[in-house]
Amino acid sequence: MSKITTLYRRRLSKERGTVKKDWGGKISVALIYPNYYQVGMSNLGFQVVHGILNDNPAIISERVFLPEEEELSIYRKTGQLLLSLESQRPLPTFDLLAFSLSFENDYPNILTILDLGRIPLMGRERGEDYPLIIAGGITTFMNPEPLANFIDCFLLGEGEVILKEFFQIYLDLRLSAVKREEALRVLAERVEGVYCPSLYNVAYHENGSIASFEPSIPSIPSKVKAVKQVPFKGPLHRSRILTPNTEFSDTILVELNRGCSIGCRFCAAGHVYRPPRVIAEEEILTSLKEIVTRDTRVGLISPSASNFPWIERVTSYILDSGGDFTVSSLRADSLTKGLVENLRGSSQKTLTIAPETGSDRLRRVINKQLTTQQIIEAIILIARTGFFHLKLYFMIGLPTETGGDIRAIAGLVKSIRHHLIKESKGRKRIGRIRVSINCFVPKPSTPFQWFPMDTVNSLKEKQRLLKRALSGEGGIGISFDVPKWAYIQSLLSMGDRRVGQMLLTAHRNNGDWRQTFRSSDINPDFFVYRAKGLNDRLPWDFIDHGIQKSFLQKEYSLALAAEESPRCAPDSCTRCGVCSLVT
Ligand code: SF4
Repeated sequence: MSKITTLYRRRLSKERGTVKKDWGGKISVALIYPNYYQVGMSNLGFQVVHGILNDNPAIISERVFLPEEEELSIYRKTGQLLLSLESQRPLPTFDLLAFSLSFENDYPNILTILDLGRIPLMGRERGEDYPLIIAGGITTFMNPEPLANFIDCFLLGEGEVILKEFFQIYLDLRLSAVKREEALRVLAERVEGVYCPSLYNVAYHENGSIASFEPSIPSIPSKVKAVKQVPFKGPLHRSRILTPNTEFSDTILVELNRGCSIGCRFCAAGHVYRPPRVIAEEEILTSLKEIVTRDTRVGLISPSASNFPWIERVTSYILDSGGDFTVSSLRADSLTKGLVENLRGSSQKTLTIAPETGSDRLRRVINKQLTTQQIIEAIILIARTGFFHLKLYFMIGLPTETGGDIRAIAGLVKSIRHHLIKESKGRKRIGRIRVSINCFVPKPSTPFQWFPMDTVNSLKEKQRLLKRALSGEGGIGISFDVPKWAYIQSLLSMGDRRVGQMLLTAHRNNGDWRQTFRSSDINPDFFVYRAKGLNDRLPWDFIDHGIQKSFLQKEYSLALAAEESPRCAPDSCTRCGVCSLVT
């Protein structure tokens, strides 16, 4: 038995809920998370797709992850092909390789994984003997173009809907032994949400912007619809495999709602997952009855758990049943005493709040719909209710940001610390504050898609300013992301097909982006630092999320005027266009 096989079997032995299926006569799908096991198994979307695939009796799906350092050196030393986790089969033996993509910075790992499976990196170089390479996940329906050369077929939209339809057609094609190229054409014609990049031609203006983006055959759509599950219904979207080796150790992750009603202008999830949808109260309580027993730990996943309408009832139910829960982030303006008391009864000792920025003005620019006053009121409520540490998320480099906005971040953090101490009077310990400062990266299909990213030098200067302003403050820890990685993320987020060539070169340069940029014909700043015209053709314009471009343009103008927009009200609102399409 090889070292890798031993390692994978040891990993499996610690799991609960591992799916064991017989391979006989089934379509085999290697579901790939392009990062380490620990990261992939903490991802609810990856787990849900694994469940959906294996619920289909005609499919067997096994998991594949990016090998960790030691594992990777064994693969490289021995030349062994990358193996799946469950039955340790080599990647090329699967019918399909399906990448689940949540973060742009994982893109380089896709090429490492294909290399380890000895699968040609470029789609056009793969013959009939190779598996079909498909990909889905939020970054693909934001902008799949930087991966267009490597992926045969993207599934744009929510897995609950698109996977079923994709496999219905794919099974027929397999039974009739249809050739690869023909299969891609039929899938693109017949399955809503399927995008096969090789079937589209792109032309560029001399200044580098996109002149045209057209299907090469008339039978496939020029605009590809990102499909959504509306209404949002059961079975509960939850993780089924538990392992101690994840960020959420032995925790059942449960999705409470999808999309968000606030409409923060920087947030991709708040736009591409429109309309906002929640699981009905009875449905979630009935499902929780099946999974919560004494000692069960439930991770409640939501853009903001405090905004979930039945959060107090749900958390009370879990605690009353002897279980435990954690929540992702909370919105300061929707925290209630009941929820904070339930959190005190749980094992979660750190509460996460995202003020995003320090000033009310800049919070209006981003449409956060949250004031400094509301943040302080939430801190007072938290401190009076119990002992908690706080994690605070901020962004720097936002459009219209000034030096005063940066100083306001430091001021707000100090004010939060002051109120935490004041309101915790009589307690032996005061919670620590961890401040996480992240660089703003513009995202496709948001009102901020036209803005350039702030420069790396400017971001570094803002980080230095904040470090100076907060150093020496007791009880406050501060961490920053790395501006040069935010630059790469921005490139992979906002780029077109030509960025795929840079990705390939960076892979061949062992991840040396500096060398890659030096040898590139195209200046990467074109994608990252260019302010785009409101009528420019953008690489992702061919994806139809149901959101009208005029809505995004209006939101862009309102941002410049520091004016807020109303929240979503799906029963009565037609502002962005999504709800009039789905009702
Ligand atoms: S139509 Fe209105 S309620 Fe519906 S997603 Fe758009 S903004 Fe939100």
